[in-house]
Amino acid sequence: MAQGKFGERLIKLKCSGCKAIGYYTRKNKKLVERKIELKKYCKKCRKHQIHKELKK
Ligand SMILES: [Zn+2]
Repeated sequence: MAQGKFGERLIKLKCSGCKAIGYYTRKNKKLVERKIELKKYCKKCRKHQIHKELKK
């Protein structure tokens, strides 16, 4: 097991519907190279929406 948080980053997830940032997640860049897309419930849209990784 690797120690610490090497390669791990906090990223924002933006709703593809209303563009609001609703979630934060962590991603290990060494393990995940492509952009993250998660289907999560958006309070603003009041339904499940695809949330996409937002680059800083
Ligand atoms: Zn939304």
